[in-house]
Amino acid sequence: MNVTVLTGAGISTDSGIPDFRGPQGVWTKDPAAQQLFTLQNYLADPDVRRRSWISRREHPAWRAEPNEGHRALVELERAGLLRAIITQNIDELHQRAGSSQVIELHGTIFQVECVSCGLRTPMREVLDRNQDDPECLDCGGIQKAATISFGQSLRPAVLREAISAARECDLFLAVGTSLTVQPAASLCAEALDAGAALVVMNAQATPYDAHADLVIDQPIGQALPALVKELIDEAR
Ligand code: ZN
Repeated sequence: MNVTVLTGAGISTDSGIPDFRGPQGVWTKDPAAQQLFTLQNYLADPDVRRRSWISRREHPAWRAEPNEGHRALVELERAGLLRAIITQNIDELHQRAGSSQVIELHGTIFQVECVSCGLRTPMREVLDRNQDDPECLDCGGIQKAATISFGQSLRPAVLREAISAARECDLFLAVGTSLTVQPAASLCAEALDAGAALVVMNAQATPYDAHADLVIDQPIGQALPALVKELIDEAR
């Protein structure tokens, strides 16, 4: 048994990181906030950059700890059943819980990247400079978090890796994701197309529920450890 897991914001809400697209989500309540943070606006407007650096400094990921859901996926890996975790999250909570096979579709907030020369620097180092709009120390270029902004394409190599993981599993498990953001959602289609079973675990309905072998809308912090235990027991 080979399981590929796709995780979204829903797995990290128990760790205190808000869901952006859920009913109480930041962007659901304030769609204009989403528009502001396009890559185009970021590059054009120093004020957008200044506000973005403040929000990076104040991001809940700095204080968050992995929860039962993250830890359950570590158990899955230790049992030899995990092909990969593909995550839409930028909080590194899977890695901090102890997972090693993590594909970060949307990058990480703990690294900074220069838009001009690509230099990567730890976010902490850049924040410690205490500047409104810290430029690249190598080339003077504009820097941003090493995350995928609106209007920015996914890294092709990362996407290829994710598609392989989706196509090379017996079970594709989508956890805490609304499956409405592309191309993340299409990974479900890749898995189904390659013959995998699909389990959707999310509080709200998703466009893939009708194609799923099992839909679980119970809280992830309990439902995911229970499902992982079942999978491990079955494999013994
Ligand atoms: Zn640079």
